[in-house]
Amino acid sequence: QDVVNKIAAGEIIVAPVHALKELIENSVDAGSTLLEVLVKEGGLKLLQITDNGHGINKEDMPILCERFTTSKLKDFKDLESIGTYGFRGEALASISHIAHLTVTTKTKDSTCAWRAQYDAGRLVPAKPGQSADPKPTAGRQGTQITVEDLFYNVPTRRRAFRSASEEYNKILDVVGRYAVHCDGVAFSCKKHGESSTTISTQSNSSTVDRIRQIHGSSVANELIEFTSSDEKYGYRARGWTTNANYHVKKTTLLLFINHRSVDSTNIRKAIEQTYSAFLPKGGHPWTYLSLEIDPHRVDVNVHPTKREVNFLNEDEIIEKICMDIRTKLATVDT
Ligand code: ADP
Ligand code: MG
Repeated sequence: QDVVNKIAAGEIIVAPVHALKELIENSVDAGSTLLEVLVKEGGLKLLQITDNGHGINKEDMPILCERFTTSKLKDFKDLESIGTYGFRGEALASISHIAHLTVTTKTKDSTCAWRAQYDAGRLVPAKPGQSADPKPTAGRQGTQITVEDLFYNVPTRRRAFRSASEEYNKILDVVGRYAVHCDGVAFSCKKHGESSTTISTQSNSSTVDRIRQIHGSSVANELIEFTSSDEKYGYRARGWTTNANYHVKKTTLLLFINHRSVDSTNIRKAIEQTYSAFLPKGGHPWTYLSLEIDPHRVDVNVHPTKREVNFLNEDEIIEKICMDIRTKLATVDT
């Protein structure tokens, strides 16, 4: 059974960044306003995320890493949509099968923090001979998840990684996306052993400020805000996109659907098409788009490695968003 779980986990998490994305989403779901990421060797040696969210109850710790354990199915109706949501309560379980996982957490009401270690879905002792039960420890409210030696027991996967800096760049990309998107959350990301952070944002900064911090002033100074919505198709969109007098070398799209970072080739192409009338040849847009769609119309909880998303009335929704962007581009004078 453990072998089967290990293989399944290796398909869910193919690179460190896939684990990290799940951990970031968990921290954000826990209502955190502070989120710190620490990385060693591109995340293969160490991936640690510390948040100040609501924490995990001590009683829930023994089952935390069992597959399909989730605190996020609110009612029976949610259960019906498990099929479409696909990926639920599998992240921590998967990670525990292919890495050494340590969780330290404190809720508001707990007098101390609790620390536990996991292997293959179960609590394990920190040292041989000790009890596997969570141990009391000092700590502030929130949760710290430490993932060490990812793929230690999947040598073929481990060997497939050539460069730690390549993996680190993927991590920075994802942290940067969430840092732009999550209003009211301060993010930081740094390499272990380095004093300076690679990404650092404040919780009280505006979206454009955060874009400036992560993507630079040259882009941030050229952005126009847009909104788009349609009740018939059950969506609301908001974003920032470069104006018609500015362009970047490669199309950049920071896309969030229902607050999850995803990809959509269709949206990307449509936005490029929208700008083709405005930009010189070889010039491309930079766009951050947050799209909220009725969850029943979209596969929100996409598989960590499969970020491509589809939803109902996709063509109509994309067309309307692009029309609203086009109108803005034509009217905003810069
Ligand atoms: P899911 O997010 O789909 O529920 P996960 O395996 O990612 O499944 O997490 C399992 C559960 O662990 C979550 O439902 C949540 O209750 C708890 N959890 C995980 N990470 C955190 C965190 N950073 N803060 C608080 N609770 C967490
Ligand atoms: Mg999760």
